[in-house]
This record gives sequence, C-alpha cells and structure tokens, in this order.
Amino acid sequence: MQICVVGVGYVGLVTAGCLAEAGNNVVCVDNDSEKIARLRNGVIPIYEPGLTEMVKHNEKLGRLHFTTDLKYGLDNSLIIFLAVGTPSAEDGSADISAILSVASDIAENLSDYRIIATKSTVPVGTHKKVTDIIKSKTKTPFDYVSNPEFLKEGAAVEDFMRPDRIIIGTTNQEVQKIMKQLYSPFMRKRSRILFMDPASAEMTKYAANTMLATRISFMNEISVLCEKLGADIERVRWGLGSDSRIGSAFLFPGVGFGGSCFPKDIRSLIHTGTVNGVEMTIAKAVRQVNLNQQERFAKLVIDYFTGRDDQTTLAVWGLAFKAKTDDVRESPAIYCIKKFLDFGMKIRAYDPEAAQAATTALEGKTGIRHGRTSNRRIETFQNGYDALENADGLVIFTDWQEFRNPDFGLITAKLKKPVIFDGRNLYEPDVVKQAGIEYYSIGRAPV
Ligand code: NAD
Repeated sequence: MQICVVGVGYVGLVTAGCLAEAGNNVVCVDNDSEKIARLRNGVIPIYEPGLTEMVKHNEKLGRLHFTTDLKYGLDNSLIIFLAVGTPSAEDGSADISAILSVASDIAENLSDYRIIATKSTVPVGTHKKVTDIIKSKTKTPFDYVSNPEFLKEGAAVEDFMRPDRIIIGTTNQEVQKIMKQLYSPFMRKRSRILFMDPASAEMTKYAANTMLATRISFMNEISVLCEKLGADIERVRWGLGSDSRIGSAFLFPGVGFGGSCFPKDIRSLIHTGTVNGVEMTIAKAVRQVNLNQQERFAKLVIDYFTGRDDQTTLAVWGLAFKAKTDDVRESPAIYCIKKFLDFGMKIRAYDPEAAQAATTALEGKTGIRHGRTSNRRIETFQNGYDALENADGLVIFTDWQEFRNPDFGLITAKLKKPVIFDGRNLYEPDVVKQAGIEYYSIGRAPV
C-alpha cells in the first residue's frame, strides 16, 4: 500500500518503519527540515531498540522516503497518518493546533480520495474538528479514522509489530476493510482489530493511559504506607500481582511516572472532564500522587545531605523517563536533578542513551554548559562507574538492564561515602547492605 506519515517523531518514525518493513511504500513528512535532512543522511534522531536498522534497511530498499513536502506525500499515498505532537497547553488541555494545521494543509492539497488516520493522542471530538476543517476547504472526498497508537517507548518496534490490539475508529465498512488489510501482517496468529466509532476510539486511548498510570500511583501511595509501617512494597507487589484478577503489569513502585504521554494525557483528561462538568476525581488523585512521589524522592536525597559543610556531588544513573529510551520529556530524573542543582549540588550523570537530550533539557540551569568543564555543575559520562568517581552518593532513576547487577565493590570504592538512593528498587536491600553500602529505596526500610 501507499502510505504517508505526517510527523516523524517517536510514533511517526516507528509507524513508518514498521509499515515499510511489512512491504508498504511510506512517505514520511515533517515540517522540521533539519530532522528530514538528517534522516535522509541516515541519522536516526531518536533511540529506540531495533529502529535504526529497520529504517536504514527500508530506506535502502526504496520503501521509505523523507520529505518536508506534504503535497508529495498526499499525491503518492492512499492513507495519510497524522502523528504530530499534541503537547499540553497552559490550561492542561491537549494542544491540537499541529493536528488542525496539518488537516488544513491536507485540505488545500487534496486532489483525490484519501483516508486520513489520526495516530496522535487527541481529545474526544477531534475527529469532528478535523473532518469539519477539511470539508470546509475542499470538495475532494475523504474518510477519517481515529487510530490511536498504544506503543510504548523502549519497546516501540516490538509493540507495533505485535500489538495487543489495533483500534480502528470508523463505522465506514469500506475503510474498515482497507485498514484491516494494512494491519493484517501484524496479526498473523489472530485478529486483534477492534472497530468502533471515532469518539470511543479517542476516549479509549485516554482511558488506557490513565488506567496504567493509576496502577503506578496506587502502588506508590501504598509504598508510602509500607515505609511507615515496616512492610516491604516488593513483597506486597508479588502478593498483589499474583491475583489473576489484578495481574502483575504496571505495579512497579518508583520515583513516579513521566514521559511524553502519561502526565500530559492525564492533564488533558482532567481538562476534558472540567469543560464537560465531570469531576475527574481519580485522574486528579493519580496526578497528585505522582507529583508527591517525585517530590518525596528529591527530598529524601536532599535531606540526607543537608547540613554538610562541603558541596555535595551526586552520581546519577539514568536520565530519561525510563530505560531503553533517550526521551527526557517530563522525566522524574530531570525534575529531581533541577531540585538538586537548586540546592547547590553538583551532578555527575550517566545514561546509556539520554545524556545529550538531558543536557539540552537542563540547559539554562546555573552552571550547565558554562565555564570550563571543571566548573560545570552537571557533567555527563560515557560509563556509569566514571560518574561515581569521588561522588558523595549514587541516585538511580531508571532500570536499564546494565544497572541491575552492578559491581558493588567498585561502587563502594569509587564513592566518597557509599550510599545509594534507588528510585526503581533494583536491588535486594540485604545484598547492598552486605557490600557495605547504605541503601534507600521505595516502600522498604532503609538499610
Ligand atoms: P514527537 O514530538 O516525537 O514527534 C512529533 C513530530 O511531529 C515532530 O517530528 C515534529 O517536528 C512533527 N510536527 C509537528 N508539527 C508538524 C506539522 N505541522 N507538520 C509536520 N510535522 C509536524 O511526538 P511523539 O512522541 O511521536 O507523539 C506524537 C503523538 O503520538 C502525540 O499525540 C502523542 O501523545 C502520541 N503518542 C505518543 C507515544 C510515545 O510513546 N511517544 C505513544 C502513543 C501515542
């Protein structure tokens, strides 16, 4: 099939790569000309396991094209996917201006029948806004599909290739047939396509993200009580997750969720509730618990070092919002590091993929990228152990595999005072204690 993907970010590039891998011809359109130029030169702008090889392979075979020319994409495709960003506006609503602007550009350039499919996460009712804009500008026939994306960063290619479900939000049976054919390579064992109306498809995406975030916030709240009462949240997690009615996914306590989706989608759902006179009590609580959790973790570290005469230097492992991604949007690590810097601390950080993105996100904070390297308040390293050199403690924010079984002897030798603050509960407290390291984690007694 001939496909166009507008917006070549985490969702757009993965969608384009995977569809090309299935044999489709895909034109990728983005208004960021620098990004398109880099992609044409084989530079993949994001880290996502398996993505680089797949994109390069399909580009070489002529199945993937990169352009800033939307008209070229429209002229050469039957299905046009919208995968542009929908960030939070000031009032918490989703800013769908990029979606509406692309819809308007599509209308102005539409010369033949096309299917417009939205992958971006958009508030309920966006299908009508997009349809109205296009109809107001052109007589060329088109159909609209709400096709929300459920991939998760860090496993995006895998998720796209083996989706739990594909949601096709249209009641038009001809369009349903075409979309089913497009997705058939990804569901060879059994069909996992769910057809529904566009409003329900749009709502499903928000409900899914808020439900997942609810599980995390629930566990984080229970973890606070565990700390107070001497229970161990990890034992509680096992006990809870083994109930088949509950299941074990998304029950991990930690430093709070972040990323480009959960926080903004929850804010957007709360806003949608407000403008429609519905109090989103649970979504509000989920958000508040998450903010509290990040704050609590930052405070734990800061309180530990309060009152020292010397400037505190912290080693940090993990900067992105989770492992296996370089995405630092709304990362709890960035949130806490800003607090540490405000407190006057120095940071020596390591992340296998996100050092550059984190440095950019933290730029503007006092001392960052200013002066000679020795004067910088935040430095990044190529290796986790180099970041430990002469630091006063280690703070862990993400659960990269390489952090899970470290050389505790080396950690002890390199830190000035061996102490770990673990925002992901990566270790058994007894093991860390035996290595002579003081250990603070989430929902468990410090040792
Ligand atoms: P992103 O910021 O990584 O990518 C968005 C891309 O759109 C950028 O390359 C940007 O240059 C481009 N763009 C913006 N305006 C444009 C325009 N007018 N014309 C052409 N290109 C334009 O965003 P993302 O993380 O891929 O998310 C995209 C959407 O998918 C969002 O609605 C998000 O909520 C949703 N989503 C994201 C994920 C995820 O894990 N990142 C998962 C599921 C759904």
